[in-house]
Amino acid sequence: MGDTFQTVVDLDATAAEAPRLATRVLDRLVTEGIVLAERADRTFGHHLPGPHWDRAVDPLDADRQPCDGLTVHIGRTVFHGGQDGPEWARCPRCTATTRLYTDDHDLIDASWEPYARAIGLWHTTGTADVTCPACAVPVPLPDWAWAHDHFAFAHLGFEFWNWPEFTDEFPALIAETLGGHRTVRVWGKF
Ligand SMILES: [Zn+2]
Repeated sequence: MGDTFQTVVDLDATAAEAPRLATRVLDRLVTEGIVLAERADRTFGHHLPGPHWDRAVDPLDADRQPCDGLTVHIGRTVFHGGQDGPEWARCPRCTATTRLYTDDHDLIDASWEPYARAIGLWHTTGTADVTCPACAVPVPLPDWAWAHDHFAFAHLGFEFWNWPEFTDEFPALIAETLGGHRTVRVWGKF
């Protein structure tokens, strides 16, 4: 089985504004009844589902009440979709796709290495580029697109544990509360 998560990540929040925005979104989710205000000390989500948690999820899945809650991540974070890496990365400038796995699901070490190095550097310093193999331009790591939105490099994320799949409207509600920031849903299983 394992535990599943869905994280709505704010791609635009700066480190300085993340704490204020986190409070604003949490207040909104509490007002909507989606999570509880109290912060419980638990592994899978500090804010447990509220009375209207089902407003956030696909109605077809709404009979599966989540027993875990929301963890808010504030500060520089490599958000990722679990153990298996993304099949590809796409350059935002030339849209060329770099394959990171073979058809047999073996990691292509030579292709992955520049990304792995950049992820480590970004985690440490908050800035890193990967030179696109196709157009040869250095592209900031957070600007790359990934298969299944596997990665997001950001300062604010709302991580829900073991909830049914969100509606499209729910991440939009969070994005609206963030003042129209770009968001991405990173999801996976541990
Ligand atoms: Zn390129």
